[in-house]
Amino acid sequence: MKKHNFSAGPSILPQEVLKKASEAIVNFNGLDLSLIEISHRSKDFIAVMDKAQALVKELLELPEGYSVLFLQGGASTQFLMTPYNLMKVDGKAAYVDTGAWSSKAIKEAVNFGETVVVASSKDKGYNYIPKGYEIPSDADYIHFTSNNTIFGTQLNEFPGDMLKVVDMSSDIFSRKIDYTQFDIVYAGAQKNMGPAGTTLVIVKDEILGKTGRTIPSMLDYAVHAKAGSMYNTPPVFPIYVSMLTLEWLKEKGGVAVIEKENKAKADLLYNEIDNNPSFNGFAAKEDRSSMNVTFTLADESLKGKFDALCTEAGISAINGHRSVGGYRASIYNALPIESVQVLVKAMQDLNK
Ligand SMILES: *Cc1c(COP(=O)(O)O)cnc(C)c1O
Repeated sequence: MKKHNFSAGPSILPQEVLKKASEAIVNFNGLDLSLIEISHRSKDFIAVMDKAQALVKELLELPEGYSVLFLQGGASTQFLMTPYNLMKVDGKAAYVDTGAWSSKAIKEAVNFGETVVVASSKDKGYNYIPKGYEIPSDADYIHFTSNNTIFGTQLNEFPGDMLKVVDMSSDIFSRKIDYTQFDIVYAGAQKNMGPAGTTLVIVKDEILGKTGRTIPSMLDYAVHAKAGSMYNTPPVFPIYVSMLTLEWLKEKGGVAVIEKENKAKADLLYNEIDNNPSFNGFAAKEDRSSMNVTFTLADESLKGKFDALCTEAGISAINGHRSVGGYRASIYNALPIESVQVLVKAMQDLNK
């Protein structure tokens, strides 16, 4: 039996994507060559890059004026690339601190200039999303983490009149929002798109080149945009698998369709958490994530029994992050609702 994979990242990908990806490793496009042993400048790979970029634009409904980049260094490198490319010399940036990933982004920004943390939910262990805060109007940009993978909270509002940067590593392509409200969107591939090794960066072209800084080439969005994301050798395999996942998503009907499925999965699981006396939800109800569902046992002494029920049912990787404890079920796009049904049954069986 295939496992029910609730891993937070790297995480579940569609079965058919894995199958096609494994075929391309042996014989890509009938070339009798592997995808990973041909030039990234061959016409076969250029077609992959073009298609991946076009699918991102189509699925997120991006108009002209945005570049789609597939970079390396993980979302963590974006923590420093965004201030490098957007914070003016003697400028300032605003950050909303909603968890471990926001904190890491802030830690890098302070190396580039004044970094104002306009709001934080650290006071309550990051179990909610701060609202109604003030933002200095002279900030060069404001940075958000749209989904807090570790704590299981998610943002629905992105206030501010300045440039907006958003880390969407764990909820990109999962819900319909207006992506044009952002100037930079970035996401490590390994949560909702493909294998670790590439980071999707969407950047509005007109915002670049205005800081007065000299930026090293590899950290300069403009350099990558001008080169069509081929300034140096791109990570061909993660980009190919991402392209396959985006094709899969398009064939399913796109972001609007997957959003409905994601909501059905999240509702099913949160409903069980709320109605089952053995479990408590971690995140504030109005801020709950539709991607990472965090919960704890009401009675810790039942942990052995619950873990055994999960193992028996083929449930994999629902332990909470080491900083939070409890459980975290990541229910990304590729996770079928049947897996959530199996988890809900295990939760109910705990009371038998
Ligand atoms: C996983 C994750 C990251 C880190 O991504 P890397 O690719 O490992 O650097 C950053 N932000 C969020 C929201 C994440 O979920």
